[in-house]
Amino acid sequence: MKYNNNNKLKKHKFNIKTINEEIEEYEESHYEKYKHIYGISITILLIIIIIFSFVLSPNISLKFASNILSGNLKNNTFTVNSTLKIILSENIKKELIQSYKQNKPYEIKLCLIGQIINGDYIINKIFHPKIIEQSVVHVISQGCPETTLIDIHSHPFDNCLFSNTDFNTYKRAKKTNEKLLMGVMCSENKFLFVNE
Ligand SMILES: [Zn+2]
Repeated sequence: MKYNNNNKLKKHKFNIKTINEEIEEYEESHYEKYKHIYGISITILLIIIIIFSFVLSPNISLKFASNILSGNLKNNTFTVNSTLKIILSENIKKELIQSYKQNKPYEIKLCLIGQIINGDYIINKIFHPKIIEQSVVHVISQGCPETTLIDIHSHPFDNCLFSNTDFNTYKRAKKTNEKLLMGVMCSENKFLFVNE
């Protein structure tokens, strides 16, 4: 009786081994047959993950938006739109860059003064308001003179997008000076201006 049981057991083990081998062979042939589909699926999945992380990452998407909206000075001129250009004198450009570099990584605030000629803002004077408090993310200063054409501050980390505080400050200032533009300088030669 014992002998018979052992024989059955051996036979049973043998069968299990055979089935396992067959499964492995089937899996290998299945993988070989469909491996290109697996490759494409993994690639698509990776692309979807990259796109989602790009869209959902605030820092990357903000930087992307900032790069699209901001622009460089060309011949000391910044084109705000088809009817409005800002033209800086050479000295003003140098002074802006110097102030930006000297204060980095802190924000600065400056008041640009000049004339409006044929709708274009010709800037030939800078007023430095008294800074009350400045950090890497904000600047509090005394207000600009009434003759200011552009109220400009810096964002030292290459992000030219205005904050809600920037817009609220600008809206208040615009009530008493309707020609006022708001500007931000987010690198030595990268700016964004609004006139709204
Ligand atoms: Zn700001």
